[in-house]
Amino acid sequence: MKSVHDAANSIVSVMQRLDALGLNRGATGNCSVRTSMGFLITPSGIPPEKLTEAAMVTISLSEAHQAGMGRAMANSAANPSSEWRFHHDIYLQRPDVNAIVHCHSAFATSLACLHKGVPAFHYMIAVAGGPNIRCAPYALFGTQELSNQALRALQDRKACLLANHGMIAVGRDLADALGIAVEVESLCEQYWRALQIGEPIILSDAQMAEVMEKFKTYGPHKGD
Ligand code: 13P
Ligand code: ZN
Repeated sequence: MKSVHDAANSIVSVMQRLDALGLNRGATGNCSVRTSMGFLITPSGIPPEKLTEAAMVTISLSEAHQAGMGRAMANSAANPSSEWRFHHDIYLQRPDVNAIVHCHSAFATSLACLHKGVPAFHYMIAVAGGPNIRCAPYALFGTQELSNQALRALQDRKACLLANHGMIAVGRDLADALGIAVEVESLCEQYWRALQIGEPIILSDAQMAEVMEKFKTYGPHKGD
């Protein structure tokens, strides 16, 4: 597990990277990393160029529900991200997740505004953990309802869309979560483009099961 200092440093880099990649604009989006004290999360409403390591906020996993608000656990003068609830609930329910990226990237958000998830129109959809990327029903930002809906849409997945809002990507570390966010945005762009010229052909469950199997040994250090 990363030290709090290293985690704060990597969060600032990832928020600036999201902006440089065009996956986020202005002060939208947020990210967090699991730490020995709970998790460290971006402050609310600060654009990436003004983010500092010192502004990151620690939230405890054990006390947050009792206290009912992130501010009560804040170690910094800043308010934690308004979305601290879904970050909190994901860390509690998903031991496989050590980092979370939330952004309002253009193509993912465009599909989410139509309440459209992404079906298996391309085999790479498997990077998000299964044969589709779900779109969670709309709920007001920063609410427990949004957290509940997001958790449901993320079941057995590493990403989901949020209706009329954006996307969430989760990973074993921040680089992994960022990589998934980048792949998901690219898939949303491809799906959006394919929809402009026709009806994409969707891979079958059997074809996707084959992809998921092959993914187990795909890439560096995983076999042939
Ligand atoms: P915060 O700046 O409070 O993290 O809010 C940004 C956002 O994306 C809300 O959904
Ligand atoms: Zn958001």
